[in-house]
Amino acid sequence: MAAPVHVTFLGGLGDIGRNCAVLEQEGSLLLIDCGIMFPDTDMLGVDVVLPDFSWLLERADDIVGCVATHGHEDHVGGLSYLLREAEFPVFGSELTLGLARGRIEEAGLLKRTDLTPVADGEVWEIGPFDVEFIPTTHSVPQAFATAYHTSQGTILHSGDFKIDLTPVDHRLTDLAHIGALADTDGIRLLLADSTNADQPGHSRSESSVGEVLYNLMHHQEGRRVVVACFASHIHRIQQLADAAVAFGRVVAPLGRSMRRNVTMARELGLLRIPDSALISADDIGDHDPARVMVICTGSQGEPMSALAQLATGDNRWLALTDEDTVILSSHPIPGNEHAVTRVIDNLMRLGADVVHSGISDVHATGHAKREELKLYQSIVQPEWFVPVHGEYHHLVAHARIAELMGMPAENVLVAEDGDRLVLDDRGLRKAGTVPADYVYVHGTVGDVSTNVLADRQVLSREGLVSVIICVDGRGRLVAGPEVATRGWVLAGDSAALIAELSERVGGAVRDALAGGKPNDQELAKVIRRAAGSFVSDRTRRRPVIVPVVLRS
Ligand SMILES: [Zn+2]
Ligand SMILES: [Zn+2]
Repeated sequence: MAAPVHVTFLGGLGDIGRNCAVLEQEGSLLLIDCGIMFPDTDMLGVDVVLPDFSWLLERADDIVGCVATHGHEDHVGGLSYLLREAEFPVFGSELTLGLARGRIEEAGLLKRTDLTPVADGEVWEIGPFDVEFIPTTHSVPQAFATAYHTSQGTILHSGDFKIDLTPVDHRLTDLAHIGALADTDGIRLLLADSTNADQPGHSRSESSVGEVLYNLMHHQEGRRVVVACFASHIHRIQQLADAAVAFGRVVAPLGRSMRRNVTMARELGLLRIPDSALISADDIGDHDPARVMVICTGSQGEPMSALAQLATGDNRWLALTDEDTVILSSHPIPGNEHAVTRVIDNLMRLGADVVHSGISDVHATGHAKREELKLYQSIVQPEWFVPVHGEYHHLVAHARIAELMGMPAENVLVAEDGDRLVLDDRGLRKAGTVPADYVYVHGTVGDVSTNVLADRQVLSREGLVSVIICVDGRGRLVAGPEVATRGWVLAGDSAALIAELSERVGGAVRDALAGGKPNDQELAKVIRRAAGSFVSDRTRRRPVIVPVVLRS
């Protein structure tokens, strides 16, 4: 009997983000991606959501490496956190490693890893696995599908992908090689991207966006053009720069990650902009606005980004007017719609013309739609299939596609974060679970516990009531209860309510003092209970109650 292989999902199955899977054979653990998720608006004050690494860290010494399929944050953004607690090499394309490197370097963790560049078509021996890096098209260059040759046959991971037949860099998804793998050894298990599994048809080629952008430039004579897109979308940036140059404009990258990525991609030979056509943001003012294209970050409405600053008139390099056209070459990720709309509104208030994906085809998705997923299934012909990278409904939609293509339903497994699967001579099945809750991070300081988050949610919804009392050495209430509130009831209605609350708490405190010698904690408890029940009886709300006990 050949050694079994386990696959454990720490993130990415049930939500878009924090992608992280672990392959395991004979005690060695190989990570496929290590990403973050950006928080929902109800995760107050949370900057980043991580996979729960606790199961992984119990076996930190068994980690033989991490395969980074491509450079998006939902695939490599978690490395700078995991590397604090574990040391292992990371394998990925030059650009993937270049994009991942920034955060790892900022965290001072470069010495805890070996960033190992791999090239298209190479096979690397990593622990017990032979790993093949297969070119694939996506919304960032140099993305990979990866094939893992294991004791249980070949496991193919699609990576994030679309089947773009006219990619900007002519680097096609190597379907021929995937077909050859399927034809010779067969694919025992396929893990494939489900993001657009409920979208009909075929995704548009990235080069079709270039045409749209080029045509748009015809109508911008005499106007400055500002375009926002993902800073990692090098091919979009290339097509924008090409359009700018064709219309005699210079290109000014704006925003920290945009400047950094343009520099890096040019050094790697992945982005071609002539020196003469590239200017620094500092010099925008020296150029005729009609001869400038600014390419900036902030296409998702991120509050601190260059575009958000432009929209509120807070950018130090550039002030927009009614002579500017702003193009959002992007589509809001679910959850960001509101932030993006607010930015668009503010840009329009400044008088700018705004073009976005709702009114023009200035964006194409990086993820395969239904017809592409069918094509992939038809080439891979896997024995077992697990949809990955999607919300639960995406995973189910992808599973249905496989069944529609003729896979027996019992060979298609819909798994979720925390599921541990085993692949052995008998086949694939679930074999327990591991912790996979969200881990919240606030800034770079560290975790935000679920308690803190719950407090913030209550504060934001229900407000806060603080009650201050002062007790002297002989156990008498000498001042207060002083009640202050924020966000609980409207000021006009509050005076009588607060007076009544103060009286009620005062009574409870005096009773407690008369009955013995309560300490500060006990008094705080009395206050919290008296105030809490009064507030909830009278207003049907549950604000955070903060008792403060002073001694005189
Ligand atoms: Zn992704
Ligand atoms: Zn991606």
